[in-house]
Amino acid sequence: MAVVVVIGGGPAGYCAALFTAKAGLGTVLFETNETKMHNAYLYNYLGIPEIGGTELMKIARRQVEKFGANVRMEKITKISRQGQSFIIETASGTREEAKYVVIATGLNEDLLKQLGVGYEGDALKVDRHGQTTVENVYAGGWVTRSKSQAIISAGDGAAAAIHLIAKETGKPYKDFDVPPGTK
Ligand SMILES: Cc1cc2nc3c(=O)[nH]c(=O)nc-3n(C[C@H](O)[C@H](O)[C@H](O)COP(=O)(O)OP(=O)(O)OC[C@H]3O[C@@H](n4cnc5c(N)ncnc54)[C@H](O)[C@@H]3O)c2cc1C
Repeated sequence: MAVVVVIGGGPAGYCAALFTAKAGLGTVLFETNETKMHNAYLYNYLGIPEIGGTELMKIARRQVEKFGANVRMEKITKISRQGQSFIIETASGTREEAKYVVIATGLNEDLLKQLGVGYEGDALKVDRHGQTTVENVYAGGWVTRSKSQAIISAGDGAAAAIHLIAKETGKPYKDFDVPPGTK
């Protein structure tokens, strides 16, 4: 059983998985390589003067896998709650179980609908940590319908992960590193 399952392979999903895996939480990320980043060439991702979206996501995947996240190229077709866990089912018929889920599926809202999360009009109801109205279900990025920039999706993923890590460990969480060689 994973602690966290992230569904979605765009900036929101990979950034959530980066933080949860780096914090040592067992993380599985499912995606189908259909991120809208494949259509994008970015001049507005702070710190990177210009980069193709596909290249950025290749770097992201390597970065996330380095911290131990298990990235699986599989479409999720069904998700449901069973007691305190979620059962996540793939199109090929395999199942994963997790305590928390982060939904970062871009323009695909199917899984959020299956989970019965709340909406306000067309916009998903989420707080600033990405918490939906269903406990332990987080969402971020385009799927919330309120933002459309890659760096905001990445920030949403980070915010969701940081809240989730604090909830799981029972203490406030900051992911601070310092330059090599300093204390
Ligand atoms: C033509 C174009 C140009 C753009 N240019 C820029 C730009 O210059 N700068 C900028 O900041 N933004 C740009 N964008 C926007 C940017 O691409 C999005 O903001 C970003 O991709 C959103 O990230 P996300 O993680 O929220 O969703 P996405 O990147 O859409 O990722 C969603 C992921 O979920 C996966 N998924 C969906 N359903 C399932 C499922 N059931 N099971 C498993 N996986 C699933 C998909 O495969 C995909 O990997 C552009 C977009 C387009 C279309």
